[in-house]
Amino acid sequence: MVRDAAVSEDRREMDTVPAAAAVLRSAGRIVAFTGAGISTESGIPDYRGPNGVWTTGAIPTMTGFRDDPAVRRAYWEGRRTRYPEMVAKRPNRGHQALVRLERAGRLAAVITQNIDGLHLAAGHDPERVLELHGSSHVIRCLDCDRRWSGAEIHARLSAGESVPGCHVCGGPLRAATILFGEALPPVALSRATGAAAHCDAMLVVGSSLAVKPAAQVPELAHRAGARLVIINRTPTPLDGIADAVLRSEAGPTLEALVEAILARGA
Ligand code: ZN
Repeated sequence: MVRDAAVSEDRREMDTVPAAAAVLRSAGRIVAFTGAGISTESGIPDYRGPNGVWTTGAIPTMTGFRDDPAVRRAYWEGRRTRYPEMVAKRPNRGHQALVRLERAGRLAAVITQNIDGLHLAAGHDPERVLELHGSSHVIRCLDCDRRWSGAEIHARLSAGESVPGCHVCGGPLRAATILFGEALPPVALSRATGAAAHCDAMLVVGSSLAVKPAAQVPELAHRAGARLVIINRTPTPLDGIADAVLRSEAGPTLEALVEAILARGA
C-alpha cells in the first residue's frame, strides 16, 4: 500500500509528530511493537536487508543444526568470534525514549521482533519486554530447554570448548532465537497477544510488518479497538488503518514523540 500521489490533506495532517503524540496521550495503556528499524542506529543491520543473515543464508535450519556436527562447530566458531562485537552494541535514543515512556507509567509492554537484547539493555522492567523471536543473549539446551547467559557460555568457549553441550543432559546448545519454520516462543506469544488485545494504543516502531505471525500482533490490537501509530521508513500493510504514520528514522522520531507525549501541561 503506497499512499504518495493519492494522499489526502487529512492524511497528511494526521501524519505529524504532534498528531501522533495526541493519539498516544489520550491512550491509557500504550504497547510498543518494535522491529529491526529501532536498532539500525545501534549499528545492527536489518536482518532482511541486503547484508542481513536472512539474505546471505547464514541462518541454519534446526534440522541441520541438530544433525550435522560440522554445522554446530561452524556456528560456535562464528559465535566465539562475533560475541565481543555483539555485546558491544548499545541501545540508542529510540530504545531510551521507550524506557522514559515506561518510567512515566505510560508504557505497558514492549513487544519486539528483535533478538539483539537492546530493549532489556536500555533498562526496561524485564517483565514488560516480550521478545517474540527470542534473544541472541540467551543460550538454551535444545533437548531440556535449560538456559544460560551468553556470557557464561562464552567463558566456556574462551576456556577452550569448541562445541559446548548441556552440562545436565548432554544436549546441543544454541542461542535461544527462532529459526526458519520454527514456532514463536509460546509464552512470549501468548503474553504479546494478551497485551495487544488489552491496549488502548499500539506504537509500531521500525517494522515493515512483513514477518508473520509476529506482524499480526498490531493487527490484533487494531481489531480489539486500539489506536495505531506507525513509525517506519517504508510503507507497511497497516498504514491505511493507522491513526498516524511517520515515515522516518526511528531514533530521532521516537525521541521527539515521547517528549511530546510527556510534555508538561500537554
Ligand atoms: Zn539439556
